[in-house]
Amino acid sequence: MDYEKLAELLFPNIKKRPEDYLKQYPKRDLKEGAYVTRFAPSPTGYLHIGGVYQATAGLFFAKKSGGVFYLRLEDTDAKREVAGAANIIYPALKEFGVEPMEGFISYDNGVETSKGEYGPYVQSRRKEIYQCFAKELVRQGKAYPCFCEGEDDDENEGLDYRKQQKALGLQIGYYGSWAKCRNLTLEQVEENLKAGKPFKIRIKADGDGQQRIIFKDKLRGNINMPKNFIDYVILKSDGSALYHLAHLVDDTLMHTSLVMRDESWLPSAPLHQQLFEYMNLPMPEYIHTAQIMTVDKETGNTRKISKRYDKWADSRWFIEKGYPSETIIEYLLNLLNSNFEQWRKENPNASVYDFEISEDKMSKSGAMFDLVKLEDISKTVISKFSAEKVYNLTLKWAETYRPKFAKELKEHKEFALKMFNIERETPKPRKDISKWEDVEDIYSYFFNDNFASNETEYQFDAKFDKNDIKELLNRYIKAYDETEEKQDWFSHIKFLGEDIGFASDMKAYKQNPQNYKGNYGEVSSIIRMALTKRSNTPDMYEICKLLGKQEVVNRLQKCINSL
Ligand code: GLU
Repeated sequence: MDYEKLAELLFPNIKKRPEDYLKQYPKRDLKEGAYVTRFAPSPTGYLHIGGVYQATAGLFFAKKSGGVFYLRLEDTDAKREVAGAANIIYPALKEFGVEPMEGFISYDNGVETSKGEYGPYVQSRRKEIYQCFAKELVRQGKAYPCFCEGEDDDENEGLDYRKQQKALGLQIGYYGSWAKCRNLTLEQVEENLKAGKPFKIRIKADGDGQQRIIFKDKLRGNINMPKNFIDYVILKSDGSALYHLAHLVDDTLMHTSLVMRDESWLPSAPLHQQLFEYMNLPMPEYIHTAQIMTVDKETGNTRKISKRYDKWADSRWFIEKGYPSETIIEYLLNLLNSNFEQWRKENPNASVYDFEISEDKMSKSGAMFDLVKLEDISKTVISKFSAEKVYNLTLKWAETYRPKFAKELKEHKEFALKMFNIERETPKPRKDISKWEDVEDIYSYFFNDNFASNETEYQFDAKFDKNDIKELLNRYIKAYDETEEKQDWFSHIKFLGEDIGFASDMKAYKQNPQNYKGNYGEVSSIIRMALTKRSNTPDMYEICKLLGKQEVVNRLQKCINSL
C-alpha cells in the first residue's frame, strides 16, 4: 500500500507536517524540572468542584517547580456543549484563586481571547493541526480511513457488529475481523471518496489482545495494562479530533510535561501510549487523580459526587453561599495532600501558595469531601481576615444575594467595621463566620432595626426568678457607663447581683451552689440575652460600646417591660 498516496488522497489540503508545528511551538524556556501543567475542561456545564480540584493540583505543581499552568478549552464535542459554559471557566477559576498563568480566557463568535504563545487554546480552532497529525499517522501506515456509518465516537452501541460481539461475549469494538475498513485497498478508498462517502480516521492498533504494556503513572506507579488492540476513531468525519488525538497533539505542542487528569481516563492510557509511540513523540508524565467521593446520606455508602445529588458538586454553590476563595483552595489542598493539615499547623499564617504539593501525599483512592470540615476550615480562614476584608467581601457577596443587607452595610460602614473588628486581629480571633451567607444572621442583633423587629422570645434559664432578672437589668441600666475601661465594667457585672444572691466568687459558688441563685457568669448571660436575644455572642463589653448607652438602655428596658 502506498501510504503516502493514501494520505494525500485523504488530506489534499493539509500541507504542513508535524515538524512544522514543532518548530512553530518550540520548547519552553523553563528551568530543569519545571512542570508545565494544564486544566482542560470541556464546556459541558458549569464548572464541577472536581474541576476546581484538578485545577488546584495543576496550579500547585506548576508553582512549586517554577513552571506554567495553563487553561485549554476542549470543545471538540459540539453535541455535549452547553451554551455559555465555556466563558464561565476562566472567571470562575480566578474567583477560586486558581487563575491559570496562560491560555484560554474566553471565546465569543469565533473570536478567542487568551494569553500565551502556544495557542489557539480552543480545540475547535485547531482542526488543521489535528488533521496534520492524523495525516502523518496515515502516511506511516499507522492509521486508516473508515467509511463505516454512524459511529464517529465509538459509542454507538446499536451497531450490528457490536450486538453480535455482545452476543458472543467478545470485547466490543472495532478490531480484527470486525474492522472492515482496516484492509481496504487504495482503489477501494478512492472509489469511496469519489462516491463522496464521508470518512473518519482510525488508529491501526498493533495489540493482539494478549500483550500487555506498562503504563507509568507518577502517583500510581507502574501499571500493567492490556495493550490497545482496538482501532479507535481519532478523527471524526467532520475533520474534528477526538480526545485521544487532541491530547497527543495539544499536550505535545503546548509542551505539557505533567498531565493531571481524572482517574476515569486511566483505561484510555494504553491507547494514548500507543499514539505517542506511533508518532515517536515523548510522553509527558501522568497523574491520574482520585475522584471526589462523598457518603450518600440515604444509603450511607461511599459514592462519586454528582451534580444530581450533591448541589455543591456545582462549584457555583460555593460562590452563592459566600465561601471565600481562600477557604476553597485551603480545603481542596486538604483533600489533595494528606500532609497539608500538618503544614498548616506549623505555618498558621503562611500564604496557602507557599505550600509545596507532592505526589507522595496524594490519595490514590477517592478523596472524601466533607462539608463539615469545610465549614471548620472556613471559620479558621475567615477568623484571620481583617475587619475591612470581612466587610468588603460580605458587602460584595450581599450586593448580589442580599441587596437589603448590602444597603445596610453601606449605610453603616464605620459601625460595621467596628462590629467585625470585635475579637478580630487578636492572637485568638473569634471563629464565628464560615461563609458570607451567615453574616447577617450572626450579627443581626447589632442592627437596631433588625433587633427591634426581631420577634424571637427571650430565652432565660427557667431557674431564674423574673423579678431577679428585672432587678439585674435595672441595675445594669443604672451602672452602665460607656466611658468605663473593661476591667471596671467587668467588676460591675461581678458584683451586680451579689446582695440579692448571685455569687461574685466563682470558687465559693462551685463549693456550695445551693447557697446561691446563680453566679456572676450567669448574671452576664442574663444581660447578654436581654441585649441580643442570644446566649452566645462576641465580647459583651465591645457590643455595649458599639451599640451606645441609649440603645443599651432601650433594649434592656424593652426586655424588662416584656417580663
Ligand atoms: N476534556 C477532558 C475532560 O474534561 C480533559 C481531560 C484531560 O485533562 O486530559 O475530561
